[in-house]
Amino acid sequence: MHILVLPGDGIGPEITDATLLVLEHVTRALSLDLTWEVQEIGIASLRRVGTTLPLSVLDACRRADGVILGPVSTADYPARHTGGINVSAELRIQLDLFANIRPSRTREGLRHWGRTPMDLVIVRENTEGFYADRNMHSGSGELMPTPDLALSIRKISASASSRIARAAFELAATRRRHVTAVHKSNVLGVTDGLFLREVRQLARTYPDISYDEQLVDSMAALLVRDAARFDVIVTTNMFGDILSDEASELSGSLGLAASINASDRHCMAQAQHGSAPDIQGQNKANPISLIVSAAMLIDWLGRRHSKADFTTAARIIETSVDAVLRTPATRTIDLGGPLGTSAFTSELCKEIDVHGVR
Ligand code: NAD
Repeated sequence: MHILVLPGDGIGPEITDATLLVLEHVTRALSLDLTWEVQEIGIASLRRVGTTLPLSVLDACRRADGVILGPVSTADYPARHTGGINVSAELRIQLDLFANIRPSRTREGLRHWGRTPMDLVIVRENTEGFYADRNMHSGSGELMPTPDLALSIRKISASASSRIARAAFELAATRRRHVTAVHKSNVLGVTDGLFLREVRQLARTYPDISYDEQLVDSMAALLVRDAARFDVIVTTNMFGDILSDEASELSGSLGLAASINASDRHCMAQAQHGSAPDIQGQNKANPISLIVSAAMLIDWLGRRHSKADFTTAARIIETSVDAVLRTPATRTIDLGGPLGTSAFTSELCKEIDVHGVR
């Protein structure tokens, strides 16, 4: 299995180095058939070759078995026609990575901000919705007909709603067997009405999985009040983006939040957070989000290619993160601990090595 690694901007290179060190240790511990190569994207690539995403890198992503993408400083990119391609969005579109899978769970011994412990997964549709850059065949979904009028078009299709619903029910079948659809059909009756029609239709074909629905505003409150009741949450693009940041922060920190973007053929691991330019180069970034995202990618590869040792490797990374976080003295700065990026990564690698000699 060959993975393409794109470190990105801001803290991207620091947390990518940490992630690759973890992969090195777990690959050695389990003798995994796993290799990777690093290629340049983002601002470094813009300066060198005039684009944040060279075509050669896009082609390499298509050929790779998986991709690890560090966060990108999209807010600092120039316009697309002068080379500022949003790498994250472009790869999601080009590889049709329709399912953004974002788990949030509280971890033993670690403080959390919601009223209850939680273990849930947000399954977010990734290819349409309220995202101007991906909902038109040509041109943008945002337009300005007159100087005092701006419009955004929200696209919801039956086919995209149905395939994301299927991903959610398939995932729920491996967990606590409950799916909640999140919507705003009281005001977006046509678009969220269509989304719900498709999810309900799918729900009827999974009689062993319980199903309910929540309005997105109620959901924001319920995550704080009683997140323990949720298992798999399926929703449209922007609602999923917002709720998943809320859920992961409630579970302890945005810095813990894993995420993959997947289709049936491709998978890209990506931290949930951005490029954090305020702490760039200071060895303060928490690398866990990208590390556990890479673990999700390894698990996805294990399931897709029936490689049990990959599934084991993903589990070892997750349980080792839990083990290191259990001790206050080995936590990262954002979690109230003393450790910077590299010191935390060393502790994690030591923990993974222990699994290798067991
Ligand atoms: P951000 O997530 O980068 O940072 C928000 C806050 O969280 C900052 O205080 C930051 O220091 C902190 N933080 C984030 N990740 C952290 C980590 N791993 N460890 C410790 N602290 C962490 O969001 P922002 O400041 O709104 O955006 C910065 C840049 O990132 C912008 O250019 C934005 O467009 C981009 N962005 C990229 C992605 C992506 O690549 N998928 C996602 C969101 C934002």
